[in-house]
Amino acid sequence: MVRAPKFWQVPWLPCANNGYLTSEKYPELADVTVDSLFDAEGRNWDGKVLNDLCNERDKTLIYQVPIPMRSKNDSCYWLPENKGKVSNFLWRVARDVLPTAVGLITKQVAIPATCTWCHTYAEDAAHILFKCCFAQELWESTGLGNIVFAGSVDTTTEVLKWVFTTARTDQCALVGLFCWGLWSRRNKWVWKRINMSIFGVKTVALNMLADWNQAQTIAVKSSDKTITRNSSWCKPP
Ligand SMILES: [Zn+2]
Repeated sequence: MVRAPKFWQVPWLPCANNGYLTSEKYPELADVTVDSLFDAEGRNWDGKVLNDLCNERDKTLIYQVPIPMRSKNDSCYWLPENKGKVSNFLWRVARDVLPTAVGLITKQVAIPATCTWCHTYAEDAAHILFKCCFAQELWESTGLGNIVFAGSVDTTTEVLKWVFTTARTDQCALVGLFCWGLWSRRNKWVWKRINMSIFGVKTVALNMLADWNQAQTIAVKSSDKTITRNSSWCKPP
């Protein structure tokens, strides 16, 4: 069994001239593996994901790559149980497709656009994760504010591109985790009126970091040898 290649980092496409993807590369997806492009059953390429991530040239080539028939155990080998929770979330942040109030309104859902926390500004992803008073307080308390707010915060895509091209790897991981924590906290507030404190959001995010680190280093026995699992991104629901 071979470990799934990272789809932006190896020349896995059936093209003699250039086996690399030529689609736009998102830094936050640099470690995403090829198997993340499979559908839920792992038997076919996921057309929706390919449409989102790949240009026509890449899609045409990818569809020519046969997916090996794999047993469930093989799938587990490639796709650990706690796969890509944060990476999946970051993918949605980078694509600016989080179901915020503004996002839902653009899909004809009739709801108020205003943030239910500060009651002042429209609730888009950049507001929830970076501009709302709660988010600003959190970033400043984590010491990451000077990184996050050094570039434009107009859109989440701009922020992530800035962070992932200028910050250290450990800082990028923390930014991703705190974004995830802020979004989780937002959902608890919007849907259940549970008010998590800044300390609470930090704790959840740092626990996630511990899980993430564990997922990176869990050694699983496969046949007669020990291998290391990779976390992998999976498409959003
Ligand atoms: Zn707000």
